[in-house]
Amino acid sequence: MRVFGVLSSYQDIQSTMLMPARIRLFTHRFSSLLPSSSSSYPPPPPFSLTFRTSLSHSAPPQSHHVSATKTPKISISDSAKFVRTVLFLPPGTDPEEVTEDMILPGSNIVLGPYAGEAKVKEVQFMGSSIRPKDCPKDERPEFAMLGRSNVGKSSLINSLVRKKEVALTSKKPGKTQLINHFLVNRSWYLVDLPGYGFANAPESARMDWSAFTKGYFLNRESLVSILLLVDASVPPQKIDLDCANWIGRNNLPMTIVFTKCDKMKNKKGNRPDENIKSFQELIKESYKIHPPWIMTSSVTGLGRDELLLHMSQLRNYWDN
Ligand code: GDP
Repeated sequence: MRVFGVLSSYQDIQSTMLMPARIRLFTHRFSSLLPSSSSSYPPPPPFSLTFRTSLSHSAPPQSHHVSATKTPKISISDSAKFVRTVLFLPPGTDPEEVTEDMILPGSNIVLGPYAGEAKVKEVQFMGSSIRPKDCPKDERPEFAMLGRSNVGKSSLINSLVRKKEVALTSKKPGKTQLINHFLVNRSWYLVDLPGYGFANAPESARMDWSAFTKGYFLNRESLVSILLLVDASVPPQKIDLDCANWIGRNNLPMTIVFTKCDKMKNKKGNRPDENIKSFQELIKESYKIHPPWIMTSSVTGLGRDELLLHMSQLRNYWDN
């Protein structure tokens, strides 16, 4: 079986642990959870991903303080269970002690001891910035949402914060090409970045991604993770692959958030899990450490609570 992005040895893991604290997040092959050996499709019986309707059993023993709202019923085909991956181990997690229950459903993410309060109680729109250097300077941890236009970014923001006006702000004419900061629970930022790849826009209206957003990524000290949104209902798109590869080559922390995972196979297209697998295969060369990924749907609520939990563990570790 093909396993990608795996740390090849214990030494690799050790050297990863010598990375700067804020990016000391690593993946690990959790062999006992992986299918035996086959690259054919359909794959053998499921390995690590079980899709549950509640998170009550998904927290690791040490994460007593995890609190998540009940996940709505997940409508996802059994096939989605078979996306093969390399696990993402957050800091503080012992690879030897990872159990299946610690893996967030529909993802490769292990829930570690830093996972904590994941409820969104309050959201404030803090303003829009034209240039990266105009962004808030209070150094609260932030997550930057990035994705192609129409990927479902506004819908996901809306689903995460459960406030329509927030997503509407992101859609207001004039705001879509700005960096919009939303303060959540008065403690961390959700940052809405301009969408890229307006297929039908005239050249002049297209965002100069390299000058604008890259400047933000490379200089933003408080950036905990980029949330790169990728539409799982379509095969990998070049513009998304370019973006993911650029982020990987620059060693920036990233979580791939696959959107529209409720859109199951039509007669011609691939299933979301097939698209997700292809996407990861196509970016693996740019990543020494395989990034965390998660399946979401703003229609069914799939992955919402799990994504918030994942963000809580990254944030709490960053805060430490
Ligand atoms: P944005 O341009 O990235 O902000 O994308 P939007 O949130 O405006 O969504 C673009 C389109 O995709 C809209 O028609 C949404 O209704 C649809 N959409 C967004 N999220 C989902 C999803 O999870 N599942 C499905 N089936 N459609 C979605």
